[in-house]
Amino acid sequence: MKPLNQAQISFASNSVNEGFGRAAVAAFLAQLDPTVADLSDMRTAVSEAVTNAIVHGYRDSMGTVYISVKIYEGGKAVVRVRDRGCGIPDIPQAMEPLFTTGGEERAGLGFAVMQSFCDSVRVTSAVGRGTSVTLTKTFASKA
Ligand code: ATP
Ligand code: MG
Repeated sequence: MKPLNQAQISFASNSVNEGFGRAAVAAFLAQLDPTVADLSDMRTAVSEAVTNAIVHGYRDSMGTVYISVKIYEGGKAVVRVRDRGCGIPDIPQAMEPLFTTGGEERAGLGFAVMQSFCDSVRVTSAVGRGTSVTLTKTFASKA
């Protein structure tokens, strides 16, 4: 299916840019005339994915975080957050609630949050090449 509209952004993996990433996605999705709840859910999910790219993907380095947002018929939004960082060796394990490689300061709940706030979360990754997280959510029609 061809998107009705789409946008791409990329930015340096500075943690100060986390807010920019989620705000840019929210600004683009505003054209769906979303409910506050739907938009806030997507913002939270994007925030988790962008934080993961920055703190895990580019753990020992600086890199670029890429986001693409696509809008389809029926209010369906697809947001892909991608890094060219270290990659995830075991995706099912990484997605288990409470699993973290981030030590004491991480809860291991980022993927669980993404899953609860989106219709689907798809992860592809290759060690040493990077990770791509695709968040899909159909926004409620207010009509
Ligand atoms: P929290 O999100 O609660 O602060 P967390 O980031 O460790 O903690 P998740 O977001 O669920 O928890 O991620 C689980 C684990 O998956 C991470 O600890 C990390 O090992 C791995 N991971 C997630 N995203 C990436 C990524 N983009 N690149 C490399 N590893 C990742
Ligand atoms: Mg996380």
